[in-house]
Amino acid sequence: MTTDTDTPADRLRAELLAVASPLAVGRPPSVVREWTDTQELHDEPVGHRYFALLAVERGAGTEHFDEVTAAFAAAGWHAHRWTGHTEGTARASAKRDGFEVTAHQGRGTGVLTLSGHTPVVFVPGREGLRRPLHTLSTGTGVLCTDCQGWGICLICEGTGRHHTPGRTGYGRCQCWGGQAGPGRCVDCAGQGRTAPPVPPPWRRQEPAPAEPTPPAEAVPASALDALTTAAGRPCTCGSLSCHWQLARTRTELRVSAPCQSCARPRSYSFPLPTPR
Ligand SMILES: [Zn+2]
Ligand SMILES: [Zn+2]
Ligand SMILES: [Zn+2]
Repeated sequence: MTTDTDTPADRLRAELLAVASPLAVGRPPSVVREWTDTQELHDEPVGHRYFALLAVERGAGTEHFDEVTAAFAAAGWHAHRWTGHTEGTARASAKRDGFEVTAHQGRGTGVLTLSGHTPVVFVPGREGLRRPLHTLSTGTGVLCTDCQGWGICLICEGTGRHHTPGRTGYGRCQCWGGQAGPGRCVDCAGQGRTAPPVPPPWRRQEPAPAEPTPPAEAVPASALDALTTAAGRPCTCGSLSCHWQLARTRTELRVSAPCQSCARPRSYSFPLPTPR
């Protein structure tokens, strides 16, 4: 049960564990990683958003995935299962009170990952701010450097009107010339994020630059062990923030997701234990 003194991070963790616990078979659900995004306005921190990545050992195939959306719905969440995903995998999203969760079960792994986050919680005195469209660890792509995820023009703070020193009254802000319209960020057209740069075709056809051969991975005891190992490794940009997902082929376990700081695709492969 949560109380008024709990932090938003405590509430998120407790909510996710409450939904996940009845879904787990064997070991109870585990919190793989928790992290916080700081939201700034004109270089001042004005709020925070909290994230948690949980793993749930289910041992069941994706044919039982409807139990996941049912568990969220029973706890008062608005849950939706997404179809059209890769065969053998399942994905759902759930929302409640500004909390958002994505559930993912990879083919044959028996482990469900839950990536959840709170709404942006503003610091005292700044509660009147409207919520940014994105913070560093939400969505795909890179946070817009111009508006830091707010989606609004930070010169006029979304009003579309701007005071020019030496003149009386307010005039149109320069964002009126942007394609997204007055008050919106010109750089990202009000999206808050920008797509990761796509290499031009002539570069994609070049042979990949030689990378140092990674050391052979140890055989993990379970998909959960592989996930925990990957989640402990920072991206080359230094970030540990990642909504990891699991997948399995005949020979290996793959833990992958885009980095939530730089949008670089990240992936680790672990050999499967040899059957005996
Ligand atoms: Zn922007
Ligand atoms: Zn403006
Ligand atoms: Zn990164």
